[in-house]
Amino acid sequence: MARFSILENVSLILLINLVIITTTTTTVLTNEIITTYQSCSAFHASMEISNDLDYDNSTLTLASTDYGLKIHEKPLAVLEPTSITEISELIKVSNSLCTPFTIAARGQAHSVYGQAMAREGIVVNMTHLNGYRHGKGVVIFRDEKDPWNSYADVGGEQVWDDVLNAALEYGLTPLSFTDSLGTSVGGTLVNAGIGAQVFKFGPQIANVYELDVITGKGDLKTCSAEKNSKLFYGVLGGLGQFGIITRARIALGPADFSAYSKDQEYLISLNGRNDNAFDAVEGFLMINQWPNIIDFFPTQDLPRINSLLAQHNILYVLELAKYYDDSTQDQIDQDVERLVMGLKYVPTFKYEKDLLYQNFLHRSESAAAGQGLPGGPKSWLDTFVPGSRISDVNEGVFKNIIFKQNLSANGIILIFPMNRTKWNDKMSVAIPDEEVFYLVSVLQAVTYDTLKIFDDQKNQILKFYKDSGIGIKQYLPRNKTHEEWIEHFGSKWQKFEEAKNKFDPKRILAPGQGIFQLNNKICML
Ligand SMILES: Cc1cc2nc3c(=O)[nH]c(=O)nc-3n(C[C@H](O)[C@H](O)[C@H](O)COP(=O)(O)OP(=O)(O)OC[C@H]3O[C@@H](n4cnc5c(N)ncnc54)[C@H](O)[C@@H]3O)c2cc1C
Repeated sequence: MARFSILENVSLILLINLVIITTTTTTVLTNEIITTYQSCSAFHASMEISNDLDYDNSTLTLASTDYGLKIHEKPLAVLEPTSITEISELIKVSNSLCTPFTIAARGQAHSVYGQAMAREGIVVNMTHLNGYRHGKGVVIFRDEKDPWNSYADVGGEQVWDDVLNAALEYGLTPLSFTDSLGTSVGGTLVNAGIGAQVFKFGPQIANVYELDVITGKGDLKTCSAEKNSKLFYGVLGGLGQFGIITRARIALGPADFSAYSKDQEYLISLNGRNDNAFDAVEGFLMINQWPNIIDFFPTQDLPRINSLLAQHNILYVLELAKYYDDSTQDQIDQDVERLVMGLKYVPTFKYEKDLLYQNFLHRSESAAAGQGLPGGPKSWLDTFVPGSRISDVNEGVFKNIIFKQNLSANGIILIFPMNRTKWNDKMSVAIPDEEVFYLVSVLQAVTYDTLKIFDDQKNQILKFYKDSGIGIKQYLPRNKTHEEWIEHFGSKWQKFEEAKNKFDPKRILAPGQGIFQLNNKICML
């Protein structure tokens, strides 16, 4: 992702011009550079450097600007490297001079105090290496036996967003992030890279297996905890003082289900009526052996989606809607882009569709009708799950029961969170006692022959909830014993029963729920 313009070749003469227009001190430097070039056996390499030095005023201005917009230190030139050797050569040239020039690697310039600047020195625009990598700036190695042994070999100039996106395609993720994913790998590794996951995985620098570093002498060294360890530990958090990172081997782990649930919970945290947020947030699972009943995806993309599904067995899908009208139409694309920014989805699997409001609201019925549903008996289980236990449901229900049992049926698994604050505790409905809770619905249309198998599966799911102490509440609850109903309503049971006695003393209403028995003992004469 080059932030500087890609420049046309600049000759050695231009380098000389560059220096001539600067101060006396640098004229000395110029003569030395020229002398060095002429006597140097690596003359051709040096020629390459001079070709890639840019002294254009706008480039220099950019190189003397960073996120902080406070410090402005102008370099003599910016190197737009087309190889790692070029950076190494540049450092060697500087070393060979009586008065060396300073060199600063510049990642994404998210610094605020000019850390990536070099007054009257040379700034190395690391992003330019992207072109040189030919799209191989991030290479993922997934260990199938133990995904926790997976890693990514990443150019020091790559931005974390690109590392994440490449990893997600393999069902993997880096373990620790900063709050901005637009920073470069080299740029954060020379600091520490701290963020929301540091409590669990440590800073980004604690999740690096190996580095390629060009030292201040211009030597390219591979280092790790075992090899050149002084350099390795020095560079990590070393504020760029010992070398320029050209490659980092970053630890990856399985893309945590929590990335999905956290995204969902973030989306529902924007819930004020005036928040410019999504207007609808739902989620569902696609399971390998289940037919896809969603007609949202473009037909030509189904093979690609199915192949991703075959690779990962379960896909976690976010379904988001943003309403707009004539007055907001011009804004809608930017709004959506802004709202999905930072969400950890695989960007090449983002699909958008414009629908009329009513058609959106009818989408489930339309999909069911398109699949010939509803037909046949239904095996449904809807539950409210406390937010703190949703990862257990992923492991215990989705993976260990539903996926493992490999029962195929038309259906869908819905999963999305809700805010308790939007509910009123005075109402009868039983919900978990946590601020955020999820709807988890396993909904299948089966046949009379298979109904029992599917209902047994639902019972196993309920047993799992009970055995693991996950305080779920059933939504659209099923037949229960009297004791189970008391447990279901919990602290609300007493009021519930009192209300029944007051408003329906003969227990005439809604017998199908199986909560109360018809009271034929009260006889009004
Ligand atoms: C909006 C925002 C949010 C942020 N959030 C966080 C956060 O949550 N956690 C956190 O830890 N930090 C955070 N930061 C700080 C950020 O991580 C650092 O400023 C980081 O250095 C920026 O990376 P960069 O690629 O922009 O580096 P630059 O600003 O380009 O460079 C920073 C330093 O790194 C050196 N450098 C750059 N590339 C290399 C390389 N390949 N090899 C060796 N040295 C190199 C530079 O010479 C310079 O000294 C945030 C910054 C911003 C602007």
